[in-house]
Amino acid sequence: MRSKLVVGNWKMNGSREANAALLDGILAGLDGTGADCAVCVPAPYLFQCEQLLAGSAVAWGAQDVATEPCGAFTGEVCAAMLRDFACRYVIVGHSERRAYHGESNALVARKAKAALDAGLTPIVCVGETLAQREAGETMAVVGAQLGAVLALLGPGAAAKIVLSYEPVWAIGTGKTATPAMAQEVHAALRAQLRDCNAESAENVQILYGGSMKPENARDLMAQPDIDGGLIGGAALKAADFLGIIRAVA
Ligand code: PEP
Repeated sequence: MRSKLVVGNWKMNGSREANAALLDGILAGLDGTGADCAVCVPAPYLFQCEQLLAGSAVAWGAQDVATEPCGAFTGEVCAAMLRDFACRYVIVGHSERRAYHGESNALVARKAKAALDAGLTPIVCVGETLAQREAGETMAVVGAQLGAVLALLGPGAAAKIVLSYEPVWAIGTGKTATPAMAQEVHAALRAQLRDCNAESAENVQILYGGSMKPENARDLMAQPDIDGGLIGGAALKAADFLGIIRAVA
């Protein structure tokens, strides 16, 4: 039986003061019911997360990772550094990185591998643009994105990722995929995981991301292949984030 997981993606938001207030609010509101949860924060705030969240029910992680283990790569942050701050998760392949930093499927796969090699759990994001959906290419696009990761990781390691389906047209737009639309893609992704590793595909958590809010979270997470959410805007308000966590209760 898969547990539900809700992960906040803070993107490039926050300050020491705002983070402390947000995390305080989340910790104060957690009551042991609902989904497991984590926050993926800008790298400079990982130390603060470690200080404020260690020993709590909230895990933390980063939003990107280098492909290389260390060395002359100015500006990069490697997986071992994330481990040094006790991260559990790292997001790889978010559509904003694919779009603004030209990250290819092959590069995202290498980032997922670097994370796993260091003992982190990569949250691998896949998703189609509106134009791709309208052209009937959704399954081909997300299939190729996941396929590149599975091909590099191989059947054993593939079972250790978290996958997140994030239709690009739903991110930060207020437009959400209907539960049926999301479930259709999630089921296809799980079928692809099954082809890679039939035994462990049932254990891989597949999150949905794209304008998830307390009001729509319950119906989305009631779908059989939706195992939680990757949350952007609504993760920046404790009450909204808690509302999504509790939506699975
Ligand atoms: C995201 O960026 O991962 C995301 C899901 O954003 P939002 O919830 O704001 O659509």
